[in-house]
Amino acid sequence: LDAVRAVDPGIAASTVQELLDQRSHLKLIASENFSSLAVQAAQGSLLTDKYAEGYPGHRFYAGCDNVDSIEATAAKLATDLFGAAHAYVQPHSGADANLVAFLAILATRVEADVLTRFGTADAPARLPQITAEQFAELRTELNNQRLLAMDYYSGGHLTHGYRFNISSRMFEAHSYSVDPETKLLDLAEVRRKAREVRPLILLAGYSAYSRKINFAELRSIADEVGATLMVDMAHFAGLVAGKVFTGDFDPVAHAHVVTTTTHKTLRGPRGGMVLSTGEYAEAMDKGCPAILGGPLSHVMAAKAVALREASRPEFADYAQRIVVNSQALAEGLLRRGVPVLTGGTDNHLLLVDVEEGFGLTGRQAEQALRDCGMTLNRNSLPGDPNGAWYTSGLRLGTPALTTLGMGAAEMDEIADIVARVLGATTPASGEGGKPASKAKFSTTPDAVGEAGKRVHA
Ligand code: PLP
Repeated sequence: LDAVRAVDPGIAASTVQELLDQRSHLKLIASENFSSLAVQAAQGSLLTDKYAEGYPGHRFYAGCDNVDSIEATAAKLATDLFGAAHAYVQPHSGADANLVAFLAILATRVEADVLTRFGTADAPARLPQITAEQFAELRTELNNQRLLAMDYYSGGHLTHGYRFNISSRMFEAHSYSVDPETKLLDLAEVRRKAREVRPLILLAGYSAYSRKINFAELRSIADEVGATLMVDMAHFAGLVAGKVFTGDFDPVAHAHVVTTTTHKTLRGPRGGMVLSTGEYAEAMDKGCPAILGGPLSHVMAAKAVALREASRPEFADYAQRIVVNSQALAEGLLRRGVPVLTGGTDNHLLLVDVEEGFGLTGRQAEQALRDCGMTLNRNSLPGDPNGAWYTSGLRLGTPALTTLGMGAAEMDEIADIVARVLGATTPASGEGGKPASKAKFSTTPDAVGEAGKRVHA
């Protein structure tokens, strides 16, 4: 860090402060982790200086031999680890991976047909030669396609057709929801919706859902309606790599296309990746120019390191312990009267209803716990009356604490602290006829003091 400090002391200071913050607070954010020094060293390297548009063996720049070897290694490790036919490791993030996948599915299923209709032999390569009128017709057909995905308030991600996201502008976006009573995904309902919508893409995967999903059944739904099954396993890729989700619950075994981030349960650098069947491979490799520019060579190197780590037996042990820990945390919370959605968890995360349990908004609960040394995030719940900003829920995840080596006993202690702090927190009341603030609160100082002492010890 000395080199950074010599150029910009403020950035160096913030980096050191972030280290102190991460060491002094319990990291319960379900999407975060602690990557290894090997991953961080690979990412923070001179590879950042190299341009390499294209893909291994097919670059638009000279001198890409080393990047070829890095990218090919990362892709091979990914296909071996997940049992996929093809891997594309260039996407800079999970959101980019989803865009790459959407465009590759559109290119494979829609564009190829339209170009063939125009009588364009060797269709994709001829795209620049079609007339402006033909290109307009192609755009209309591309824009007419339907996406069916889990809605944001049920736990789906922004990139799955949320109104404010480009995915709802690229596609006519439709959604399926969890059951309003059980908060569980009902695949019979998904089938009914798929029959009604007949989407080009049936998308599964989530940012905030705590149960496993039967991907074999989703594939049968996709097949019935002629959809491509795409699974965004950004959150639970580590559980797939670690063989916690197998058989019907393994997305790679059943979906045509699987996207992921590399930095959540998978514990690699920030980034994205797409796995697919051979049918989509060619279009996937055209992520640049479809949506991406030059790949981040240093991040691909770090992805290779992380994938190598995830191929070791100890990673499977870590993945199993993530789930043991989140189940212990859920049980500890439930035992103390904290409402956990769906009554538990099958994966790395769980959702708590703080409105029902404590009359708090998620925003108030998130800050009260941060004041007591725990970092987690507020989360919308199905049908949330407090919207996406204040929310009624909290999302707690165990990957980072599992990486630190914590187990069920620590989870029980954390459940105790969460229950005490939330129980000692009250929303600020409205004054002078004003409505109460959804952000302000007060926590009994004793509870903060006691919980804070235990967290910081
Ligand atoms: N997909 C899912 C399911 C996610 O939860 C996230 C991130 O939270 C993303 C995609 C986007 O990943 P990124 O933040 O790397 O763009």
